[in-house]
Amino acid sequence: MAVANAVLMAHRLMRPKLRAASLVVDATAGNGRDTLFLAENTAHTAVVWAFDIQQQALTKTKQLLTKQLLIDKVRLVLDSHANILSYLHQPVDAVMFNLGYLPGGDRQINTCPDTTIKAITHSLQLLAVGGLMTIAAYPGYEHGRQECQSVQEYLASLKQETFAIACWSMVNQRNNPPVLYIIEKMKEQTD
Ligand code: SAM
Repeated sequence: MAVANAVLMAHRLMRPKLRAASLVVDATAGNGRDTLFLAENTAHTAVVWAFDIQQQALTKTKQLLTKQLLIDKVRLVLDSHANILSYLHQPVDAVMFNLGYLPGGDRQINTCPDTTIKAITHSLQLLAVGGLMTIAAYPGYEHGRQECQSVQEYLASLKQETFAIACWSMVNQRNNPPVLYIIEKMKEQTD
């Protein structure tokens, strides 16, 4: 299909960037599908960091990556993505966010605007020039709508000389369909 959903669109845009990537991040591991995507599409020497605040999510991610014989290149972190700077200090080639709650898990445990914006800010500091970040957001329920709005406002405030930022969504889908933000770092931040 030429027209995909937000997650598949993120994968499609991200894939070409991953070939030469050495360090990439899944900021919301969840059931591990994005971690698997990153591990499958990077060189065998690349390292994939995956964050989640739920042990249940990291256990699922570990099982999936172990089954696919890719767990050796993955570092699983049971901590908020807002603390990414405690773990990573070198340039990162790609970062993926898939906001919301764990599919099949506790719907009360959601990503939150404050920590999400903090995590995006810190991840953009780490992002290499030419690196790509994708953020899939879900405005179809109230918490997700507020978070999506916060993300949109924050991204709109970033300098166009430093970041190229686009927003993709289906225009004829009912009930506020998912939104994909795509951010490319054009040059180093000066402030
Ligand atoms: N990428 C996942 C996949 O492929 O299955 C789906 C991610 S799911 C929509 C969102 C995940 O974000 C949940 O597993 C949730 O526990 C996690 N999460 C919520 N707040 C977080 C935070 N502050 N830091 C890291 N992960 C968080």
